[in-house]
Amino acid sequence: QLQKPKLILDNGLRLDGRRPDEMRPIRIELGVLKNADGSAIFEMGNTKVIAAVYGPKEMHPRHLALPDRAVLRVRYHMTPFSTDERKNPAPSRREIELSKVIREALESTILVELFPRTVIDIFMEVLQADAGTRLVSLMAASMALADAGIPMRDLIAGVAVGKADGVLVLDLNEPEDMWGEADMPIAMMPSLKQVALLQLNGNMTPQEFRQGLEMAQKGIETIYNLEKEAIRSKYAEYKEE
Ligand code: ADP
Repeated sequence: QLQKPKLILDNGLRLDGRRPDEMRPIRIELGVLKNADGSAIFEMGNTKVIAAVYGPKEMHPRHLALPDRAVLRVRYHMTPFSTDERKNPAPSRREIELSKVIREALESTILVELFPRTVIDIFMEVLQADAGTRLVSLMAASMALADAGIPMRDLIAGVAVGKADGVLVLDLNEPEDMWGEADMPIAMMPSLKQVALLQLNGNMTPQEFRQGLEMAQKGIETIYNLEKEAIRSKYAEYKEE
């Protein structure tokens, strides 16, 4: 689409029928891969990401190991079939940058100091992209790490807020991401009340920023409860077995 569509309709609803402060439906499933130490699928509307975790394991080559902590190797990648036109599978600049941003967020929660001289490999594959893939990838990784039993300070939950046709909107979809005036992904460690990731593309007034932050925090609380529920239901399965 080459021309900006109307993002907020006359009835105040968004193109996908949501209210401005409404998130897309969320689905979380842990332990979806047999061969990884931990794995998860995280879906937010049409954005779908699978994550796999290996480790902690001995670091090879040895000289890349750190004496006092685990090294995180993190790969964010979009599958060729995740976008409407086939995406080149080679890692793009954007994917390299997002891998770094996600690694830094994960380093704030994983207790890396418990596993010196080791490496933890974290892979995220975007299966389907409809905006918000960095956050959904980060949350998929957080769930896969929990599935692998890797100790963390807290889970990570995140959602974007932005501005579309002058209206603050929660959990942007692709047209809002593309045509909106602002896009601010926020991820938190909710129990610790700490920010793990915050970026801003576009413009917001200080008041919009404060309102947006409040809106995001409500969404994050909802997501956090769904994450805890997903972990609990996995353990309930084990108990039954
Ligand atoms: P995020 O996915 O975290 O919101 P961006 O703001 O960079 O990150 O991307 C917004 C959206 O644009 C993506 O979620 C995806 O839907 C779309 N997009 C990104 N890269 C591509 C690409 N190479 N081809 C087609 N669509 C893309």
